[in-house]
Amino acid sequence: MTDSEDNINASDATEAFIQTTQRITPDSADEVRQIVLRINTPAFYFLEGQNIGVLTPGPHPYGNKTHHRYYTIANARKSSDGDGVELELLVRRCFYIDEVSGEEYPGEASNYLCNAQPGDRISITGPHRSPFRIPADKSSNLLMLGTGTGIAPFRAFLRRIYEEQSQWAGNVRLFYGARTGTEMLYMNDLNQDLASYYDQATFQAIKALTKGVLKDEGDALQSGIEDNAAEIWKLLQDPKTYVYLSGMKKIAAAFDVSMGRMAGSETLWEAHKQSLIEDKRWSELTYH
Ligand SMILES: Cc1cc2nc3c(=O)[nH]c(=O)nc-3n(C[C@H](O)[C@H](O)[C@H](O)COP(=O)(O)OP(=O)(O)OC[C@H]3O[C@@H](n4cnc5c(N)ncnc54)[C@H](O)[C@@H]3O)c2cc1C
Repeated sequence: MTDSEDNINASDATEAFIQTTQRITPDSADEVRQIVLRINTPAFYFLEGQNIGVLTPGPHPYGNKTHHRYYTIANARKSSDGDGVELELLVRRCFYIDEVSGEEYPGEASNYLCNAQPGDRISITGPHRSPFRIPADKSSNLLMLGTGTGIAPFRAFLRRIYEEQSQWAGNVRLFYGARTGTEMLYMNDLNQDLASYYDQATFQAIKALTKGVLKDEGDALQSGIEDNAAEIWKLLQDPKTYVYLSGMKKIAAAFDVSMGRMAGSETLWEAHKQSLIEDKRWSELTYH
């Protein structure tokens, strides 16, 4: 799934309202906000890991007719309260540097969302299908690897399996890379949302922080994977293990390098990965 405008029909949009918006990173880190949307459409239904699209009001640069960007739903499904549902999004305010002029430009959709105030009306599309799905068998192991706002689907998964379903018997391992402790989304001083799952016997969160100045959260995640490669490799031998990669594109490459080493060669790892893909036990949702 990419940010393309293909097949997006603005007339199919659903109306949503900003219910709350809260910055969950401190001023010293990049701005990431948790935004709760209210959808007053009783039939609106979503599954954990799915995405919605956000249509920003025009006019748009480059003469584009629409500007449509995807955001992953970060909460678990709840039955409609009769009037509709709430959706939680985790949005990073993006800026880009124009390579020619050197000027900084605000990303259109992310800034639109981050500037929105309670009561504001937003046009959304979807929910859109996602490669991420919670296995029906509660003895499945979940190996989740992510960076940045890529934690959104994992938060939805954790909420679903520990709060809505309960009695999850398989091992759940979350490997999460960030530049600093304050950028550990849902696991920092401002928002300790995932801390409630730390006492679950089956759950373990492995936090990986960058060790060098020029490194990013992808490099941090790679170190976290390296440090725990033996356990990950053991988990990957279990036919009940499902793998989920979410966030920066480079995490898939980082994972391949570490697992190639554990498998003994790149070719052996590719063969193992292929069997996971064929078994529908491998899913990726990477972007940026
Ligand atoms: C499946 C999926 C799920 C995602 N989930 C999340 C999430 O949960 N949270 C989150 O924060 N992000 C998420 N993203 C990323 C998100 O969709 C946006 O890409 C991000 O917020 C930036 O969008 P923007 O509109 O702010 O930036 P844009 O305005 O789109 O700018 C992005 C880049 O495109 C360039 N650009 C913009 N318009 C043009 C043009 N017409 N021609 C050429 N270049 C152009 C800009 O210079 C910049 O380099 C997800 C992406 C995908 C694919």
